[in-house]
This record gives sequence, structure tokens and C-alpha cells, in this order.
Amino acid sequence: MTLRWGMIGGGHGSQIGEPHRIAARIDGLFSLTAGAFDIDAQKGRQFAQELGIAPTRSYGDWKEMLAAEKALPSDQRLDLITIATPNSTHYEITKAFLEAGFNVLCEKPLTMEIAEAEELCRIAAKSGKICGVNFGYSGYPMTIQAREMIKHGDLGDIRVVVAEFAHGFHAIGDDATNPRARWRYDPAQAGISAIVADCGIHAMHMAEFMTGQRITDIAAHFDRGVATRQLEDDAILALRFDGKAVGRVWTSAIATGSMHGFNIRVFGSKGGLRWSQEFPNQLFWSPINQPTQTLERSASYLYPAAAEGGRVAVGHAEGMLIAFANIYRALSRNIKGEAKGGFPTVEDGANMVRAVHAAVKSDQAEGAWKAL
Ligand code: NAD
Repeated sequence: MTLRWGMIGGGHGSQIGEPHRIAARIDGLFSLTAGAFDIDAQKGRQFAQELGIAPTRSYGDWKEMLAAEKALPSDQRLDLITIATPNSTHYEITKAFLEAGFNVLCEKPLTMEIAEAEELCRIAAKSGKICGVNFGYSGYPMTIQAREMIKHGDLGDIRVVVAEFAHGFHAIGDDATNPRARWRYDPAQAGISAIVADCGIHAMHMAEFMTGQRITDIAAHFDRGVATRQLEDDAILALRFDGKAVGRVWTSAIATGSMHGFNIRVFGSKGGLRWSQEFPNQLFWSPINQPTQTLERSASYLYPAAAEGGRVAVGHAEGMLIAFANIYRALSRNIKGEAKGGFPTVEDGANMVRAVHAAVKSDQAEGAWKAL
């Protein structure tokens, strides 16, 4: 059964809209049925129709979409709504759709404020509706393999996690004329943090996802390489976890020449792992006192959860769209009642909002440790 799916944000030319549209449909599990795609109502309606959505379900804004969609009979009702708008709008839109009884996948960060994130956790728990947060890198087969290896004890006790998410796309500082950068450094739209809330959050989530441990404390230093910015474009974070691991994260938007720049290493008492988002099909495994091995996505020796995540044969390139597709497949199974879990939850999203706030507080306190 194909599920009815709607989108808010992710309009023409947006960064993340198209990856969602491709990923949600790769497995034929979702059909794009309704949407309010753009801050410009006219453009949003037009784009929806270009995507093949019926004019009656091509909306100018999300409030219009909510009013119309919640009035529809159950055989036409949307099964899932993805929210891919700028950060400041996530809370209001997610809350409204959850309260109206819809399942939601919200882009990260879940909210700007901790209280808002915790309220969404309560609403999701009370309503029984699904609220996922798109930490999409956790859908890569080889990040799943890393999590499975750690879960099965292959690495022994996890001691240190080192991650960086450092790209160079905001090195020029052309925010005034760059609509994709502008909102990210405007506190009214981005909140209290720019690069930590935008990219550092993925590194912290991945550290939690792989290790199965929650971050409990953060010590942080923020910097603004482009001095005219109101929010940080570079930061270094030290982390403590509830399972005794420690972590170090460097995140930056001014790492000139760096592309995506998301790499993570996990070191345990029996060995270490290394994974890089730009080469996602390989996981480097270094058992203690033995040569490093290259584990390949879709190879026969992977743990079942990782093996299931790969869609094409070993040796053939596969990437981010399949990682997102794995999140959508898990959501589809949960919506149909076929499985429980397998996607980043509203609780995961809430802990990351707490992490961003702890990092900001720590930076304001000259790097003192702050609890989440
Ligand atoms: P973007 O600026 O490229 O696009 C934002 C889109 O949302 C535009 O089409 C805009 O017109 C539309 N929009 C803005 N306000 C709206 C509203 N009120 N109603 C409907 N549409 C609205 O931004 P982006 O880079 O695509 O980021 C969007 C969200 O996705 C952000 O929260 C960002 O943090 C997140 N993101 C996540 C990942 C990931 O890997 N998970 C990657 C990139 C971005």
C-alpha cells in the first residue's frame, strides 16, 4: 500500500526538498499528494502543480493546508507530512500537525527552545502519532553497521568519539545576497546558534546514534570567522556521555575548500572505527593490534540491519538518497504497524536541542561544562 505524503517547505531551489522527494519515493512507499512548498504562496502553489499535485491540494501556506487536510475523510487523509522549512518554523508547524492527528517527519533542529521540544515529545506520546526528526545520516548502511558493531561489543568499551562537520560554503560571507546562508546567521530565523544547530547537531546525533549513549554535558567555544555575523560560524565542543565515553566535535562553515566535511571516529577498548560521509560506502575497522580493514556496504559480512539498508550491489556507488530512503522506509513500516523504531525520534531531536543550548551556555561561560 502506497502511503499519502505531504510536504511543507522544500520548495523549488531549496537544498533539502528534492532529496526528500526522491528518497521518499525510491521504494514506492509514499505518493506525494499535498504540499505548501514555499514562503511565497504563488510560487508554492505553482511548484506543487509542477510536481503533479492536484490543484485542490496545492497550498499557498501551511495553515491553509492544515485546515483543508484535516477536514478530509480518512481514505484521503495524509499518512505523513515532512516539514523542511527554516528552523524557526519547525515547532509551530510540527505542533499544529501532530495535534491535528498527523504523523510528522521534521527537519533538524526540531525546535529553537528546549521547552518547545519537550512539549512536542509530550504531544507525540499522548497522541500516539509518529514524530521523527531527519538526522538522515543515521540511515546510511555503514553508520548502521557501526552502531551494530558497537552494540554487539566488537569495539569493547567505548572511550572516545571524535567527529567533525566542517564545510567551507559560508567562507565568503556573502550572507546579504545568499538566501540559503542569510537565515542561518539571523537569530530571528536561526535561533541562538548557527553552525552548531545546523551541522554540529548532526555530528552530536551521530555520536549518540553510533554509541547508543546520550550526551550529558558539553563544554564549548564558538567563533565568528566572518566578523559581521551575529551567530557562530565555527565551534569546538567537548562532550561527556552517560555511558562514560567522551567526545570532541569540530564544526565549521568557514573551512575554506572543504566540501561536506562530515567525518566520525569511534575508539573502544578493542578497536576503532572511522566513517566519512563523502565516502559513505566504506567503514574502516581497526581491531586492536591488527591491520585496518575496509568494510564495504552491501557485503555479505555486515550485520543484518546494515545489510538491509543497502539497495545496490557491493562496489556500486550508493549515497545520501538511500540513507534518507531508509528513514522513510522505517517510517512507512511504523505507520503501517509492521515495525517499531528505526528512525530518529522526537526524543532524539529534543536531546539535540538541549545539546545546542548547553553548547551556547558553555560558550557564554568561557567554555565551562554545562549539563544538558
Ligand atoms: P532553504 O533555505 O534552501 O529552503 C527552505 C525552503 O522552505 C524554501 O523553499 C522556502 O521557500 C520554504 N519556506 C520557508 N518558509 C516557509 C513556510 N513558512 N512555509 C512553507 N515553505 C517555507 O533551506 P534548506 O537548506 O533546504 O533547509 C531547510 C531545513 O532543512 C532546515 O531546517 C535545515 O536545518 C534542514 N536541513 C537538513 C539537512 C539534513 O541533512 N537533514 C540538510 C540541509 C538542511
